[in-house]
Amino acid sequence: MPEASGGHRIIPFLEKVDADLIELVRQEGCRYCPEGKLHRSDYKRKPRGVPSWPDEPRRFSLCCDQEGCRRRHTAPSVRFLGRRVYGGVVAVLFPAMVHGWKPKRVEQLRKALGLKVDRLTLERWRQWWRGLFVESSFWKEARARFMPPLCPADPPLSLCLRFEIEERRDRLLELLKFLSPMTTPEAWKELTA
Ligand SMILES: [Zn+2]
Repeated sequence: MPEASGGHRIIPFLEKVDADLIELVRQEGCRYCPEGKLHRSDYKRKPRGVPSWPDEPRRFSLCCDQEGCRRRHTAPSVRFLGRRVYGGVVAVLFPAMVHGWKPKRVEQLRKALGLKVDRLTLERWRQWWRGLFVESSFWKEARARFMPPLCPADPPLSLCLRFEIEERRDRLLELLKFLSPMTTPEAWKELTA
């Protein structure tokens, strides 16, 4: 896991993880028709809740090649959590959530991602975690799998502690992968107000 605070390296790294995830979906072929082969059909996605993203990142996506089907397939992502939250931002954001919004942490965030992330943005994300995320069926199902149960029960702090992301930075990727099922469009519907 590259050091997140050392520039923009975390973003290309997470992009590679996403490329692997989409490749797995591509190999499966079309879910809706037996003949369908899947081709890359990426699209640009401006993440909401991030005021100054440098370049519009591409969400990796696939399209069936059969006339009359052409259904889109989207893989789980460690970068995109629906339209609003960017995985790379979340990765760097988790430690900040553990330690609270100290100015030094916010500054580290800004440097790591080249973003202007202000307190208001951070506060909105925090509210999302404590509101829609906690209520989601993804979380209700996922939290039951932790043994012993998460303590404290509230994400994202509980997840940060359980995945030990402060002690071992490589665990961030495991955490993002754990969260990735909720990034598909179907799962995301209930996570957006
Ligand atoms: Zn198809």
